[in-house]
Amino acid sequence: MELTLYNSLTKAKQVFQPIDPAHVRMYVCGPTVYDFAHIGNARPIIVFDVLYRLLRHVYGAAHVKYVRNITDVDDKINARAREEGVPISDVTERTTRQFHEDIAALGVLPPDVEPTCTGHIPQMVEMIKVLIAKGNAYEADGHVLFNTPSMKDYGALSRRSLDEMVAGARVEVATYKKDPTDFVLWKPSDSETPGWDSPWGRGRPGWHIECSAMAKQHLGEVFDIHGGGIDLQFPHHENEIAQSRCAHDTDVMANVWMHNGFLQVEGRKMSKSEGNFITINELLQKWPGEVLRFNMLRTQYRQPIDWTEKSVQESWDVLAGWYAKASPADADPAMSGEVLEALLDDVNTPRAIAALHQMDDTERASNLAALGFAGDLTDPRAAQVDDAAIDAAIALRLEAFANKDFAEADRIRDQLTAQGIQLKDSKDAETGERLTSWEMKR
Ligand code: AMP
Ligand code: ZN
Repeated sequence: MELTLYNSLTKAKQVFQPIDPAHVRMYVCGPTVYDFAHIGNARPIIVFDVLYRLLRHVYGAAHVKYVRNITDVDDKINARAREEGVPISDVTERTTRQFHEDIAALGVLPPDVEPTCTGHIPQMVEMIKVLIAKGNAYEADGHVLFNTPSMKDYGALSRRSLDEMVAGARVEVATYKKDPTDFVLWKPSDSETPGWDSPWGRGRPGWHIECSAMAKQHLGEVFDIHGGGIDLQFPHHENEIAQSRCAHDTDVMANVWMHNGFLQVEGRKMSKSEGNFITINELLQKWPGEVLRFNMLRTQYRQPIDWTEKSVQESWDVLAGWYAKASPADADPAMSGEVLEALLDDVNTPRAIAALHQMDDTERASNLAALGFAGDLTDPRAAQVDDAAIDAAIALRLEAFANKDFAEADRIRDQLTAQGIQLKDSKDAETGERLTSWEMKR
C-alpha cells in the first residue's frame, strides 16, 4: 500500500515514507480557545482526522501518534477575558469544552495527545535559551526575538520575497528589532496580563514557539507530518520551522507539511461583518453532525471549498439514501477497494465518495464506518420542537378551514414552515374529514 501526499515543503506529491513505520507521528495546529469554533476551523479537524484514520489503517492504530494542541495562551484570549471581566481560565476552559463537544458531533477521533501551552511553558523557556545560546535569538527591550537572517534558508516553506514577508509579518516594525522580519519568542507581561517567570523577566511566549515546544515534547526533534490551514503557512509554520530547526540543528522539522485550503460560505469569505459567519455549534442545531462531515469531504482538502446550504442538503440526501440500504452502525468498519485507493492518493475524498456510490451496500457501509460515519441522521431540530404547540397550531388551522378562512390557514402553515415543519394534508377515506400530519422538513 503506497500512500502519496502533497508536501507543501517541496511543492510536490510524494510517496510517504515514515521515519519509523512503527511510530508514525503527526502534529496539527489546534484551536486558539477564545470563542466558538467556526465551520472553517472544522476543516483541518475533519481533514486530518481522515488522514489519521488512514494512517491507522496502513500502519496499525498502535503505531500512529497524533498530536493536536490547544492554544490557551494568546492575546486574543486575554482580551476576551478582559471584555467579559472573567478569569482567563474561564474563557479557555469553557471554549475548550465547547470545542470538544462540537467536534465529537462531527465524528472526529480524539488525538493521542492534546497538549496545552500553559502545560509547556518550561519547555518553551528552555528552547528560547538554546536559541539565544546558538546566536539565533536575542533579548531586546524585555522581549526575546528570533533573528531571521541567522538562518540561511529562512522562508523556504512559503517562498516569499523579503518584501512580502515584511508586509505579511503584520506586526509593527518595532525599533528594538534587528531585522523587520524578526519575530517574538517571549514578551513581557504587565501585572494585568498572565505571565511566567523567565530569565528575561515575567512574561509570556509568542504563538510560534508554543507549537515548536509542544511538538518537540511529544513527537521529537524531527517527525513525519505537520498540518494546518493554508493561512498558517506564513508566518506561523515558517517560524515554527525556524525555531525547531535552529534549536535542534536539523534539516527539517517535519518531513511532510500539509495545508488545507480555505472555506468560504455561500461564495463569500466568512466574516462577522458579512453576516455569514457560522459556528459549528449553530450548524449542529440544524443539521446532523455527520452530514456536516460528509459535506466537508466532498471537496479535496487542498481545494477551496464553498460551503452552501444547498450542498449540505444534498449531502443529507445522499447519506439518507445510503443508510436506508445499509447503515454504518451495523457494519464492520473497514477501508477497502477504490475508496482506499482514493484516500491513498493524497486523501482524495471526492474520489472516495464517487467510489462509495459504485460500491455494494455492505462494503459501502463498512467504508463509511471506517471514515467516521456512525449512521445517525437524527434531525437535531426534532429535539427542539414542541409537539403540543404544533398540534395546537394544526387544530387552529383545521378550524380556519372549517370557517373557510383560507388566509388564516395559510398563515399558520407558513409559520410552521418557517420552523422547518412540513404539513401533509389528507382526507379520511371513510368520513372525508380533513387530516393533517407533520414532519421535519430537511
Ligand atoms: P485558529 O484558531 O484561528 O488558529 O484556527 C484554527 C485552524 O483553523 C487553523 O488550522 C486554521 O488554518 C484553520 N482555519 C481558520 N479559518 C479557516 C477557513 N475559513 N477555512 C479553512 N480553515 C480555516
Ligand atoms: Zn502551530
